[in-house]
Amino acid sequence: MMTGDSQRPVGKRRSGEIPQKPLRKPDHPGAVPDAEELLTVLPRLLLVEDDRELLGMLDRVLTGAGYHVAPAADGQRGLHLALTRPFEVMIIDRGLPAIEGLDLTMRLRKQGVHTPVLILSAYGTVGDRVAGLDAGAEDYLVKPFDIEELLARLRALLRRHDSPGASVTLGAGQVDLTTRVARLADGREVELSPREADLLGLLAARPERVFSRDELRERVFDAAESASIVDTYVHYLRRKLGRQVVRTVRGLGYRAGRL
Ligand code: CA
Repeated sequence: MMTGDSQRPVGKRRSGEIPQKPLRKPDHPGAVPDAEELLTVLPRLLLVEDDRELLGMLDRVLTGAGYHVAPAADGQRGLHLALTRPFEVMIIDRGLPAIEGLDLTMRLRKQGVHTPVLILSAYGTVGDRVAGLDAGAEDYLVKPFDIEELLARLRALLRRHDSPGASVTLGAGQVDLTTRVARLADGREVELSPREADLLGLLAARPERVFSRDELRERVFDAAESASIVDTYVHYLRRKLGRQVVRTVRGLGYRAGRL
């Protein structure tokens, strides 16, 4: 147990200084997402940390930053949650009771859980980091850490995790993202523009996720564009591929449909 490993600089901040992203705004005024939809749209994060004070602080900060956090105070509980619930990203402390962090990460990989893992640790030598990555973690952050760096690293892990491969499947259809050709369920082929393919590729890479218009605009289009560019391209996709190709989730954004 590393005493004080979480005290600085995280512990020095007053909560008012932590940049907090509000929950994503509904697309249409007056449209209120129901609880189930809200859980789908927020990235689900497993947080395994035995330092109760740090666990509580991170839970609050990450919730404020727009994550749906499942906290666990030991490795056994963390393993149970990781094997029984879906997550988009996990933060695992290295020094944990019951099952220590690297062992936990290795067990998850062996069980076929490939959710990105960020290891938190007071051990920061090159050898320690290598051991963390070799255990199957995607990232390794040494305590004490800055909360803004943690948030940036989580965003980077989510971006990488969402990156589509060379082709994506939607229902009975498929999109080849290299040639930008969509093959529909009835066998017809339709060519997409680069931005149409990027938009559909991102949605289809995570069909269970709802993407807000702001996130889609940020990731597919120029920052200077207004959010309505997303609606325009959803319209193009639907015109080419059928209305069902992109689903509107009222008040939240869009998710993949089927081809
Ligand atoms: Ca610990």
